[in-house]
Amino acid sequence: MTDIHRSAFPLPFGAPATHDPAASSRWMLALAVAIALAVFSFDAFTRYQVAVAVLYVLVVQLVAVSGSARLTVLASLACVALTLLAFVLTHEPASTVGALGRCMVSLLAIAAATALSMRHLRTDRRMREQIELLNLSHDAIVIYDMRGVVTFWNRGAESLYGWQAAQAVGRDFHALTDTRFPQPDEAVYETLSRQGRWEGEVERRHRDGRDLIVASRIALWRDQRGHAIALMATNNDITERRRAEIELARNEAFLADAQRLSKTGSVLRYADSYEMNWSDEAFRVLGFGTEEIPSFDRVLQRTHPEDLPIVQGMDAAIRRGEPVIDGKHRLLMPDGEVKHVHFVARLNNRPGHRAEYVGALMDISAAVAAQEALQRSLTELAHVSRLTTLGGLATTVAHEVTQPIAAIVTCGDSALRWLDRPDPDVAEARQSVEQMIRDAQRASEIVRQIRGMAQKREPQWAPVAVNTLVRESLSLLARECATHQVQPDVQLSDEEWIVPGDPVQLQQVLVNLLVNAMQAMDDAGSNPRVLRVGTARADASHVRIVVSDTGPGFAGGDAERIFRAFHTTKKDGVGMGLSICRSIVEAHGGQIWATSGNPGASFHVELPLRNEGES
Ligand code: ADP
Repeated sequence: MTDIHRSAFPLPFGAPATHDPAASSRWMLALAVAIALAVFSFDAFTRYQVAVAVLYVLVVQLVAVSGSARLTVLASLACVALTLLAFVLTHEPASTVGALGRCMVSLLAIAAATALSMRHLRTDRRMREQIELLNLSHDAIVIYDMRGVVTFWNRGAESLYGWQAAQAVGRDFHALTDTRFPQPDEAVYETLSRQGRWEGEVERRHRDGRDLIVASRIALWRDQRGHAIALMATNNDITERRRAEIELARNEAFLADAQRLSKTGSVLRYADSYEMNWSDEAFRVLGFGTEEIPSFDRVLQRTHPEDLPIVQGMDAAIRRGEPVIDGKHRLLMPDGEVKHVHFVARLNNRPGHRAEYVGALMDISAAVAAQEALQRSLTELAHVSRLTTLGGLATTVAHEVTQPIAAIVTCGDSALRWLDRPDPDVAEARQSVEQMIRDAQRASEIVRQIRGMAQKREPQWAPVAVNTLVRESLSLLARECATHQVQPDVQLSDEEWIVPGDPVQLQQVLVNLLVNAMQAMDDAGSNPRVLRVGTARADASHVRIVVSDTGPGFAGGDAERIFRAFHTTKKDGVGMGLSICRSIVEAHGGQIWATSGNPGASFHVELPLRNEGES
């Protein structure tokens, strides 16, 4: 390799060697020995009186070409010795002065040639050392002349471009590497001649066809008279870095698009301070310009006043170092717009780094609006369904009202009779009036329930006593049970469990299940027709209501299907009852499911109990 690099430094230091330098040195030495012997023979054994020994200069220079200072000195000494030997052998008294003069001239010529050769060798050695240093560089260093012809190509260039020095030297650098400057070539050369240097990213091609991106620094080399003679380019391969940067930029663009589409901003918060970092989308969600400095105070500034405790609670959790922060709250924008946001962050606690929370702030306003719209539709649907149920029960329910009213009339008549007596029996009359009051209360209670079911209203959350709910629903359907010859079998738990909920909607669920059960037994002509209703505690936090019948039940695979909207097996059924029941129960945080036994079907409703201390 070293030899290649020596030879690859031809311009301005020499011509590129295309032959084996070791072999050529051997030829030079052989030639030097031949010349030395020829000069000696001529000098010592012929009678021509010329200073032929001066030709020893040639011998010294030929040996110097081998590059060895030691050999050069030895050759020089040998030449001196041969000159002196020839002088002694040919010595004749008559020509002593001339012969001595010729001998001295030859010795001087040998000495001068030796000194010059030694100087040249030293310069040459220094240059080679400098070339070796250039080879040590990891950078690709290329020197080329003003026509672009490569004169030096270091090892870095070999590995960067795939061309060996011997292949590259003498060829056009730009053609060899398919150079594409980021600006027109003329502009590059214009900068070089004006400033003496140029710097930039250049696209080139590897020998194997791969595209390369290199950071290139080019310096212009001028001779002493200021003429441009060569260019030195130092190049680093930045292909991978550029690709990674392009990839990163692309990913960032994708991420920014994804954030914009999903209205989700990234948020970073240090656990030990109010400092934050927001992505562009987080700025947008919070309604700040990207020139603002993100901080927790800015978040508080935008937080809806009613939700400040939620956000402060999350801040406290961050300060405690909890691993996950998750909360939903509202933002109040300066123009009065209210946004709903969901913030989720995870603690990132790397050793040696400040603990930080990395998370996402998602604008869920659209989802909340959709949820509210869904809730409104559900409420309306539930109302329509209640009206349908009431319509179906009209006759029996009307009987429930007319029956106490008729009883009131009868009791009123008897009270009057007790009072109209010559000796009025006040005690009997009082009993009749008390019965009248009870009947009136019962009628008014039924009217209240019917009105509640018929009314179109928003759900109103209240503590609901489960056993009372079951009793009231059964009493509303008492006449219906009689009509269907159904015997209710009620097994209520001893304790009155309280669940938070809308009493009208929960009653709707029960009425629906009870009516379905009666219809199922009716349709199948089951006997006996037993309608079992029970309440019990399901677990520490739930109460369960079970409605079972002795009807035909349903096929095993239908347990889920019957809850689907518009699934019905009845002639005049709509198939919405159970679907609405499920929506209502789930809106109460509970679950409803069905099982088919032998005989009959059972419907299980599980509702979360009121928490301790909840009103
Ligand atoms: P609809 O009463 O209008 O059919 P539902 O949603 O209330 O609508 O009921 C859907 C279907 O579930 C009924 O058509 C029936 O096939 C089945 N189903 C409901 N309750 C029972 C029951 N107690 N026993 C057997 N099948 C039932």
